[in-house]
Amino acid sequence: MAKVPTKACPICGKPAVEKYRPFCSARCADVDLNRWLTGSYVIPARDDEPEDDKSIPGSDEDDNI
Ligand SMILES: [Zn+2]
Repeated sequence: MAKVPTKACPICGKPAVEKYRPFCSARCADVDLNRWLTGSYVIPARDDEPEDDKSIPGSDEDDNI
């Protein structure tokens, strides 16, 4: 038995397989990818917010002369 330190699959906790590292299977890799796509990789949609609110301060200083 080879003593290779295997990390546990972050999805299900099973020992990871080298082929699918760091996951134990293609399925778990897919699950993680899905989480990543739907979780961290959310594109902020600001269609509702008025762009006037985010004007650059300093370009509107004709009152300060
Ligand atoms: Zn797994």
